[in-house]
Amino acid sequence: MNYDSIWTTFLSDVKEELSNLAYTTWFEETKLLKIENQKAYIIVPMAIHKKHLTENYTDLITEKLNNIAGAYCELIFILNEEIEEMVPKDESHELSSNNKNEPVEAVNSNLKSQYTFDNFVVGNSNKFAHAAALSVAENPGKMYNPLFLYGESGLGKTHLMHAIGNYITKTTDKRVLYVTSEQFIQDFIKTNRKDDLETNFNYVEFFKNKYRNIDVLIIDDIQFLGGATKTQQEFFHTFNNLYNDSKQIIISSDRSPNDLKVLEDRLRTRFTWGLEVNIFPPDFELRSAIVRKKIIAEKLEKEIPDDVIEYIASNTGTNVRQLEGSITRVVAYSSMMGSAKITLDLAMEALKDTISKGIGEKNDVHRIQKIVSEYFSISVEDIRSKKRSSNISFPRQIAMYLCRVMTNESFPRIGIEFGGKDHSTVMHSVEKIENEIKVNKDLANIIEKLKKDIGLV
Ligand code: ADP
Ligand code: MG
Repeated sequence: MNYDSIWTTFLSDVKEELSNLAYTTWFEETKLLKIENQKAYIIVPMAIHKKHLTENYTDLITEKLNNIAGAYCELIFILNEEIEEMVPKDESHELSSNNKNEPVEAVNSNLKSQYTFDNFVVGNSNKFAHAAALSVAENPGKMYNPLFLYGESGLGKTHLMHAIGNYITKTTDKRVLYVTSEQFIQDFIKTNRKDDLETNFNYVEFFKNKYRNIDVLIIDDIQFLGGATKTQQEFFHTFNNLYNDSKQIIISSDRSPNDLKVLEDRLRTRFTWGLEVNIFPPDFELRSAIVRKKIIAEKLEKEIPDDVIEYIASNTGTNVRQLEGSITRVVAYSSMMGSAKITLDLAMEALKDTISKGIGEKNDVHRIQKIVSEYFSISVEDIRSKKRSSNISFPRQIAMYLCRVMTNESFPRIGIEFGGKDHSTVMHSVEKIENEIKVNKDLANIIEKLKKDIGLV
């Protein structure tokens, strides 16, 4: 009987005797590493398990284990990272040393060459992220460590991370590794899979070699480490190891370290040691620029007129991945129709299923800005500016309020469209108008009229 099956039997026995809570808390994530010289080595996820299991469950575990494995054993609780310490000293030394003369297995960087800084279009919403990424690419391990990029899906995080990796590989001989957090989890799970000790250690070595023998670690979508407690601990060690050696770490996530509640506090804290950069949804201008650039990059034979570009940019939402989808669709549709030119009519026809008609335009922040500016006889530039005079800031607050209630735009996104305000300022303005409508009938009427003009009522 191998250790895995001993433990599976053991766990199912224990499960029957304990409450669900006690079982999941103290036993679910344990594993039997080996039984040797009448000692049972049990891997536990956290230090607290050692104490709790020793103090409360020693008798139960010894008894059950004896029933299954046929021997009374002393119980030794260990953490995953302590397994590494059990590797014979000279081997572990060899692994942790960074002697360049040693033959190092070629690391597959996993980098996608198509994602570069050259084809990343920069605008208001991503210029900070772009600048930070470029400085890290130029000074790996020196400027901002770790670099933590976060923002919604489809805004270019993965693109920027590959761009950094590609830049570093091109300009230095540093070893770069790009992985998603899922890949990291998979690799880590493998270190535990084999019950045969020899093989087990080889997996551990493989893991260490892959993740520690590098100069730059790029890990994408870190939020998926949530739920994988043991892997988080391993990532913690990997992080510390690289960080202490001044190796560059680049992390992305769909939310800020502060909001990454699924991760351990000590990890989240470390993520804030370097630079956190929020990447925002592109505004209309950037969306148009991206569409233009993609069209040029595709080397399309057909000209795409400006009104088509504008149509795509204002009707496809703010996810760049979807924007790309729309371009492909329009181009494919025109080929299918055998039409010589891509006209606005053709683009509208091609996208009619993906765009619920009219919503895009009505939802457009720019449309709201235009109508509110007209109503108050100020210019669109002013309403989009940082100017503070009350004849401008009041209409601006109304426009921000309308954007919030009439579109699905987030506070940060609205902030960007109104002179780069931060989300709390936008929230404050929206609240202010909301409260005022309740007591000011005239304002309530103005808002109703504007809503009609904008077209959702
Ligand atoms: P995320 O990782 O944030 O979900 P991706 O990096 O996968 O987003 O981006 C989605 C797609 O949009 C990719 O094909 C990427 O090349 C493209 N993209 C995103 N932002 C830009 C940009 N600023 N310029 C050019 N392409 C972009
Ligand atoms: Mg991504």
